[in-house]
Amino acid sequence: MFKSNLIPLYMYLGHPMQRPERLYDYVIAEQGIIKRVETPYASADALLAPITEKLIGLHLQPYPLRPLQLKVPRIPGRLLLDVLADARSNIDIEFMYHFRYSPAQGWTVTRPEQAQSWGRVGYSHDPTGVVLDLHSHHTMPAFFSGTDDGDEQGGRFYAVMGHIDHATPQLILRLGMYGHWLYNVPGLALFDDLGPFVDTYVDEAAIYQAEQEDGWFSKFFSWRS
Ligand SMILES: [Zn+2]
Repeated sequence: MFKSNLIPLYMYLGHPMQRPERLYDYVIAEQGIIKRVETPYASADALLAPITEKLIGLHLQPYPLRPLQLKVPRIPGRLLLDVLADARSNIDIEFMYHFRYSPAQGWTVTRPEQAQSWGRVGYSHDPTGVVLDLHSHHTMPAFFSGTDDGDEQGGRFYAVMGHIDHATPQLILRLGMYGHWLYNVPGLALFDDLGPFVDTYVDEAAIYQAEQEDGWFSKFFSWRS
């Protein structure tokens, strides 16, 4: 018998599969080991570990990865402008903001109490109902630091804004997949307007190449149709 708190690993033999019932699961398919995430706010699949060897005898099939799907309306761009103005008002401090969604209230944003410093936002617990954690790197570039990796182990969106003293500040966004991340999520996948922000990606060259080859960027918008 399986204990109920175990995360399942499935073999993909080509049959239709249910989405994960408990936040995430793993699938071994022809192309490799896949992690699938299903939260109240988003779903996505990621190929964690490609397998180049044919696993003879298992009859594995290539699993069709699900692109990121947002299950709630996008965040109004004015909320992004609000947090930018707030962060700019005290530019030496690293702030964190929590974006939540409810059907009754729509999107709301709060700045939780925290230990603020130049180095990091001292914040580790897992808040309920938070769809997006966004923190500011004030005048530094937007990127995910090793500290951010350690803090961002949940299944929500994580964003960093950087260069907020510039006219065109940076925004970088990823989806947390419980210890892994789906990188290079365009800001417009989650916000309906980026205002002055420009997207920053982990690997710009690879993104450009992928878009040329198979419309990588446009896949993020399949949920809008
Ligand atoms: Zn950071």
